[in-house]
Amino acid sequence: MLYDVAVIGGGIAGYSAALCLKNKKANYLWLGVKGFGEKLRASEYVRNYPAFFGDGTAFSSALQAQKQLEEVVLTEGRADGVYAMGDHFVITVNKQSYSARSVILATGVETGGNLKGEREFLGRGVSYCAVCDGALYKGKDIAVVISAKEYEEEIEYLSKIANTVYVFPAYKNFETVLQNVVKIQAKPTEIKGKMRVEEVIAGEKAYPVSGVFFLRNATPPSALCGGLETEGAHVKTNRDGSTNLEGLFAAGDVTGTPYQFVKAAGEGLVAAFSAHAYALKQKRERA
Ligand SMILES: Cc1cc2nc3c(=O)[nH]c(=O)nc-3n(C[C@H](O)[C@H](O)[C@H](O)COP(=O)(O)OP(=O)(O)OC[C@H]3O[C@@H](n4cnc5c(N)ncnc54)[C@H](O)[C@@H]3O)c2cc1C
Repeated sequence: MLYDVAVIGGGIAGYSAALCLKNKKANYLWLGVKGFGEKLRASEYVRNYPAFFGDGTAFSSALQAQKQLEEVVLTEGRADGVYAMGDHFVITVNKQSYSARSVILATGVETGGNLKGEREFLGRGVSYCAVCDGALYKGKDIAVVISAKEYEEEIEYLSKIANTVYVFPAYKNFETVLQNVVKIQAKPTEIKGKMRVEEVIAGEKAYPVSGVFFLRNATPPSALCGGLETEGAHVKTNRDGSTNLEGLFAAGDVTGTPYQFVKAAGEGLVAAFSAHAYALKQKRERA
């Protein structure tokens, strides 16, 4: 199936885009993790959102009720690659793939990301996808920097391939019974190496590893989509949400500050209009 628009990201920007596409009766795919984003759930009081006052849980419940009422469908999954194929995009999710004429990236930003050396060694030992790159580390020692409990099953997967897995959890209560998984309490500060990753520095120690996996809520956009123009952690966009890649749009925190729900929702809608118009124009031209 070739979708007109694929929206990646289950936060408010992605939801707003999907809602708008649903109302337009567009042929859309909304891909993400359910719950409207981890940040929303963490918000003790939602400020600056017209007509809503309350905490993140109440906001999430209101969104859930609307999602159900309007029948906005979420396909659960995390995209690990977006590939421009000329007249359409292919989005990979684990071993599955989806095709769409246009894509909206609404993947948010990871605050506290970008470890020293992370960008430098991307593709040379640094990875964001256990199932995509895990097999490269058969019998080797690797490090995993994990930001949330929900990714722990990826550690189990890696432990079956690698020799030793050093885990640097960014949250409390990480426990494991796996023999070759070693929890490191110290915060990683740098990835070092010559041509490829050779070690991770944490506290006073250096951990010799061949690869470092980052299991985070937000995948850096440039790692998701090759050739995408970024400014630091943000995708460079025009007012209509378009990027340097034709047919690829972005919305929400991933496009830059201010990091606010109302801006994310607004940009989601703008990107939905733009992406849908792009897809329809492309269809007409190729008919
Ligand atoms: C504690 C806290 C309190 C806040 N309080 C407020 C407030 O009071 N008022 C306000 O306006 N703003 C507030 N914010 C900011 C607000 O949360 C963000 O601006 C908003 O969540 C941005 O929405 P988004 O959809 O762009 O990104 P996010 O909410 O980050 O959603 C992005 C989603 O995409 C998913 N994703 C990432 N990569 C992929 C992938 N490869 N495939 C599939 N899915 C992916 C992520 O897991 C996430 O679910 C707060 C933020 C925090 C952290």
